[in-house]
Amino acid sequence: NITPAKRLQTLPEQFFAALVAKANARAATGRDVINLGQGNPDLPTPDSIVSRLKDAASNPKYHKYPPFRGFLFLKEAVALRYKEDYGVELDPEKEIAVLFGGKSGLIEISQCLLNPGDVCLVPDPGYPDYWSGVALAGAEMAFMPLKESNGFLPDYEAISENELDRAKLMFLNYPNNPTSAVANASFYSQTVDFAKKNGIVVASDFAYGAIGFDGNRPISFLETPGAKEVGIEFYTLSKTYNMAGWRVGFALGNPEIIEMINLIQDHMYCSLFGGIQEAAAEALTGSQQSVHDLVAIYESRRNALYGALAEIGWNAPKPAGSFFCWLPVPAGHTSMSFADLLLEQADVVVAPGSGFGTNGEGYVRLGLLTTEDRLREVAARIGRLGLF
Ligand code: PLP
Repeated sequence: NITPAKRLQTLPEQFFAALVAKANARAATGRDVINLGQGNPDLPTPDSIVSRLKDAASNPKYHKYPPFRGFLFLKEAVALRYKEDYGVELDPEKEIAVLFGGKSGLIEISQCLLNPGDVCLVPDPGYPDYWSGVALAGAEMAFMPLKESNGFLPDYEAISENELDRAKLMFLNYPNNPTSAVANASFYSQTVDFAKKNGIVVASDFAYGAIGFDGNRPISFLETPGAKEVGIEFYTLSKTYNMAGWRVGFALGNPEIIEMINLIQDHMYCSLFGGIQEAAAEALTGSQQSVHDLVAIYESRRNALYGALAEIGWNAPKPAGSFFCWLPVPAGHTSMSFADLLLEQADVVVAPGSGFGTNGEGYVRLGLLTTEDRLREVAARIGRLGLF
């Protein structure tokens, strides 16, 4: 009889692992299931990146342990991308840490900064991995409601004094998963002031940074004057280059925090396989045409899906960024009962909003992660249920 440590006992089942299991069980019965539930890009990594890995894999220099904190050429590559895309200068040695996808950093930042009794401000609805990191650190969460009426931005005025006194860390995520909202420069400068005044570190999760629609390019938190004094940004190749399986991400910004993340990682890993680092550098420094093409694909898919949803009477504002659609559930349903109904009666997998927090109740999240035809098929199947 082996008892897990207390920190594990506070850890819930991983939300997407449970969702994927449900979808797979349905598909195993032979049904034609369309899975828009998990945020897993359906398109392949561009050829130029894959072929770089193939060549690099035979280079003996990569067969040894890589440098503890990653190859300098990779950090220079991400610094170049931030300079070109956002006008942000980063010192590759001191202001960049190489991660195993953004996900490892999301957990590590809580280990770096939170003690039991400390509070972490988390968006609600929000990406569930933030909670896991806080739980593993034995700290507490204070949820910041993201309301549609406020553009799905948190209201810093609404946070209680007690929570503010104990808050050490705050997660933000724009373009937002799950609401698809995008933040503007004035919100970020308000954030820097708020963080300075209250001694809170900002962790900006920029996983969907490349994906903005209707000609609007999302801005990076690090573009904000003073941002590097108060925080870091998580950046990942998973969505931008269809590299979710490669596990390449970065923490960027405040050098003291970057040092803490690197220190933890020195004890846990020895960085990514060098061949992957070389291919990742190719992604960041090569032609960015594939990124423009990808955004155009998601935008066409969005337009196809919303056109078809309007025809069945399911209306909502179109996403501004990310590849998620945040749609209200029909009257008489919870987000979970509606998601279950769609799985059982339409063979469509969506993520119930309640999985992202209390304020996610009343919504479901659909990913734009299949072809336009299949997205129209989703709308047709749902339309046949006659719920709208
Ligand atoms: N942050 C958000 C908001 C996400 O949706 C995801 C993945 O779905 C991640 C971070 C983690 O991405 P990765 O670990 O692949 O970089």
